[in-house]
Amino acid sequence: MSKPCIFCQIAANEAPHALVYEDAECSAFMDIHPLGRGHVLVIPKQHAVQITELDGTFQDRLFQVARRVLKAQRQLGWGLQGTHILLNDGKAANQTVPHAHIHVIPRESRDSLKSMGRLLLHVTGLFGPRQKSAVLQQQAKALRHEIDRFQE
Ligand code: AMP
Ligand code: ZN
Repeated sequence: MSKPCIFCQIAANEAPHALVYEDAECSAFMDIHPLGRGHVLVIPKQHAVQITELDGTFQDRLFQVARRVLKAQRQLGWGLQGTHILLNDGKAANQTVPHAHIHVIPRESRDSLKSMGRLLLHVTGLFGPRQKSAVLQQQAKALRHEIDRFQE
């Protein structure tokens, strides 16, 4: 049998990741090639390549988790000037990991050049160097703390 996709492995806790949030249906973790400080991915635990493979209630659930992540990032002062909530749904839309995911990417007013460079690497599939695991774990811990402080 072929190996499950990388995000299925993360959802099953069988691949390293910096966990931000999880419940029975969804998981959120730090992106290893962040396009902004504290970039998080929100995924369904069940495998689905595109968002349209999930029913409407489940899609809403994913966006609800993305909103909680966004709120936690803002509490930490990340993305106060803006945030991308991004879903690359399909190959032609630059989806590189074939398991549906929502990006929550905090931006800062003067980070355009840095972010554009990373975005270019992302679109070409090269990605560049990974963020240090210790940094991702520290950011995930701070986000978990904020998420625990409030109920939606
Ligand atoms: P997309 O192009 O929308 O499919 O984005 C996929 C994202 O997944 C990219 O931003 C990658 O940096 C990120 N990514 C790939 N593998 C991992 C991983 N093992 N852990 C965390 N993020 C990952
Ligand atoms: Zn999968």
